Amino acid sequence: MSNATKLIHSIPVDKQTGAISVPIYQTSTYVQDAPGVNKGYDYARSNNPTRAALETIVAGLENGQTGIAFASGLAAIDAVVKLLEGGDEILAVDDIYGGAFRLFTHIYAKFGIKVNYVDTTDVANVIEAFTDRTKLVWLETPTNPTLKISDIAAIAKVARQQGALLCVDNTFASPALQQPLCLGADLVVHSATKYLGGHSDLIAGIVVTADAIIGDRIKFIQNASGAILSPHDSWLVIRGIETLYLRVKEHSANAHAVARYLQTHPAVDKVYYPGLRSHPNHDIAARQQKGGFGGVVSFSLRQDTAAAAKEVVCSTHLFKLAESLGGVKSLLCHPASMTHKSIPGDQRRAAGVADSLIRLSVGLEDVDDLISDIGNALDALSGVYVEGDASLSTHITA
Ligand SMILES: *Cc1c(COP(=O)(O)O)cnc(C)c1O
Repeated sequence: MSNATKLIHSIPVDKQTGAISVPIYQTSTYVQDAPGVNKGYDYARSNNPTRAALETIVAGLENGQTGIAFASGLAAIDAVVKLLEGGDEILAVDDIYGGAFRLFTHIYAKFGIKVNYVDTTDVANVIEAFTDRTKLVWLETPTNPTLKISDIAAIAKVARQQGALLCVDNTFASPALQQPLCLGADLVVHSATKYLGGHSDLIAGIVVTADAIIGDRIKFIQNASGAILSPHDSWLVIRGIETLYLRVKEHSANAHAVARYLQTHPAVDKVYYPGLRSHPNHDIAARQQKGGFGGVVSFSLRQDTAAAAKEVVCSTHLFKLAESLGGVKSLLCHPASMTHKSIPGDQRRAAGVADSLIRLSVGLEDVDDLISDIGNALDALSGVYVEGDASLSTHITA
């Protein structure tokens, strides 16, 4: 049976009524028959049937034992870090999601958890960076916004040899394209806000564990700390997941076509998309991602200034200017002045985030409409960067 069929039929039919949609159990508590005698539910922070249905579905999607649904992607990341103790170290991908960087730096550093940032696209760097205190390896692949790819299977092997857990933030690829637990990772986290939810209408996070005992530890941490996903938002994520394979396939096809088009535009300098042969990690991406390369494309401009990028992001009509990704509607953003604003300029540029870098979350509109929208914005810019060239200015005025 195909994964898409399995997914759709992993969404349970309600036993009591036959309802084909999972019921929303909007309750805080459950009536007990006698103290401690209940139907498996006692208080809704600890457990809720709607949330439990989502957790089982996502655990199945990621081929894991246990799923735990959180109030946000960052709450999911936070719960994984809480597996550690003061003095432990994390070895993390250098191109890490900014919110994870902030959490590690401004919250966990003061509890004595240290993070070593490494270019994980080369396994040799990972091997070299291990210390005997490294207890957790943190990967994102593809990364944000330059879409670097790391070899999950190779790094999982190294982590196992060193006795450290490997957690992969699988938000960008989604389980429709990549299943890190099948490649040897111990945990997967998601911002379900993105492709799992898929409709830009909620904030949610998921942890999936390969091992049931680690799953129980994460559940304990969640119950103790409290960052649960609400019943209604759990239902919305289930509703989004029904079309995950369909959406991600189309997002990927659209993004691939947009990336190819961008490569041909004279105003564009570099295009970052793992599906392009020119991408430095294309071979690993092709091996570990099945069925597409995802819906995010980034590119820089020949005129490498924030002003030029801002002009482009303000002149598209279908691509809306907003942070986030993974929704039905196309979005674009300017990382240097939005998502990556807090990183000092030199450090940001060294990480490959140029002043003119633009990130696209390619949506589900017709791809020809998307290409003409971004093309028009870039054509208008060509007029700016050849300013002073009389012949062209005349042409543009006309
Ligand atoms: C958005 C995002 C997060 C954070 O998720 P929230 O749901 O916004 O808390 C974590 N990792 C990645 C890769 C993301 O894109």
